[in-house]
Amino acid sequence: MACAILVSAALTLAVDIPSGEIEVRMLDDTVVRGRVLVKTPTHLYLQARAGARVRLLVEDIVSAKRIKSPVTPDSGPGPTTTTPATPDEPAAYRRTLAEMNPTTADAWAGFGRWCFANGFPAQGRRALEKSAVLDSPNARRRRMELADLLVTAGRRYDAQAVLAALVRACPEDAALRKTFNQLSDVLDKEIDDLAGRVKSLYRAQAYGKVLDALEPKVRGAPAMLLETLSVKVEREAGLPLDEMMATCRLKTPCPRCKGKSATCPTCHGIGWRVGGVTDYERPLLLTRLEREAARACQAVPSHVMMRLTDPRYQRPPYNRSVFVLARAQRNQYVKAFETARLRYRALLGFQAKADAAARAALQARLGELDAAIAALKKAKVR
Ligand SMILES: [Zn+2]
Repeated sequence: MACAILVSAALTLAVDIPSGEIEVRMLDDTVVRGRVLVKTPTHLYLQARAGARVRLLVEDIVSAKRIKSPVTPDSGPGPTTTTPATPDEPAAYRRTLAEMNPTTADAWAGFGRWCFANGFPAQGRRALEKSAVLDSPNARRRRMELADLLVTAGRRYDAQAVLAALVRACPEDAALRKTFNQLSDVLDKEIDDLAGRVKSLYRAQAYGKVLDALEPKVRGAPAMLLETLSVKVEREAGLPLDEMMATCRLKTPCPRCKGKSATCPTCHGIGWRVGGVTDYERPLLLTRLEREAARACQAVPSHVMMRLTDPRYQRPPYNRSVFVLARAQRNQYVKAFETARLRYRALLGFQAKADAAARAALQARLGELDAAIAALKKAKVR
């Protein structure tokens, strides 16, 4: 039963991920259910029902289906259908995929090798995984070849993940374990060095350099690397990796505008180095921006805004006494709202692809802030 599901799912190349409440089946056969928060080319973020936020590697997803969908009933892929390649895969790739016979393991393996040779390692990995699923008696040999190809392609962490799964499947294979351990030792040493370097840079408040060191490693990194790196950084520096990166971003000026342009397309006018944010830190960075915006708004007492904007106060008896603010106080309030506005604008910029409801909520918030700032500027001051 489980096998049949795997095989039929394995014949689709790029997994289509619906939005809303979904159920995801992973390569290692685990099933994750939750609401889709963010979809990126490499990662899928889900809000699990238990409340936890889950990050999944897109290329490890075998299938994804909507649960309790009121509109379209789930129509799984037919047993021999091949989903069309996504448009960002060049013509040569699409042609080769279209020409191959998707029912045999050897065809998938051949296509996988072609992918590796032609610069499509992620697709090559999926294709060879499929060949292993279709040809279970030779699955081990096929996955060993995949690990080799991944190492050659410079994707050593992906290779490590493939070998780890093999070791779990046959723990008594000493040669396999040795290969896995050798690769793991090299990679561990690299991560140790990086974590140590990052810790001293962070302690020295060289926040920009922390980002220089982490950004290329974290962007598009396989789950295993991210996990190891985050554990080691947290152990070394005493704070989670995504928190460290988000903190560094909010302490480093935007390299493009140096914090001087309200219309900078890289930082959305916020002035910090938020432009190169990776998918890994994005959810936390957005939460931080939102929290900072809310905190800035709290600096203005709500009764002040009520006196200024609530229509009841324009009528007797309230309008008999004029509401007057100290000029310095008023300016401080305006500044607080402007700070919040900047953060909400940046959030809107970051969520250009978010669903309409989230964007509308941000737009409404910005409208409220505009009105509040205008009211404060019109207020009587002494
Ligand atoms: Zn900028």
